[in-house]
Amino acid sequence: MSCLFCKIVDGSIPSTAVYQDDECYAFADLHPQAPVHVLVAPRKHIVSLAEGEEGDRALFGHLLWAVSQIARAKGLAKGYRVVINTGPDGGQTVDHLHVHLLGGRPCGWPPG
Ligand code: AMP
Ligand code: ZN
Repeated sequence: MSCLFCKIVDGSIPSTAVYQDDECYAFADLHPQAPVHVLVAPRKHIVSLAEGEEGDRALFGHLLWAVSQIARAKGLAKGYRVVINTGPDGGQTVDHLHVHLLGGRPCGWPPG
């Protein structure tokens, strides 16, 4: 498997772990765009949000639940931004589904 985030999930490429459970692994973004910038990836290789199957319903919900727990643990009481870049128009650069959690500063809108 040549997928970068599969290698991060299985530990063969180092990362800074933030949270993990049976379904997902969360780690610090290498190029943080905010004081808190965490990526939450399923352990299962799914290319993007657009590639989910019927059996992934609970997993997709679980990823958002994990984000909410991480945000709480990070003390992001003033709010945060959750982003899932999907496909070329969505700006996705790593083809393994991941949720960005950005916090610790105000986020602008529209996002561009
Ligand atoms: P996206 O553009 O939504 O696919 O996001 C990919 C993210 O992965 C970017 O924010 C990158 O900074 C981040 N990234 C790329 N390589 C690594 C790595 N080895 N460890 C942590 N984050 C990474
Ligand atoms: Zn993968």
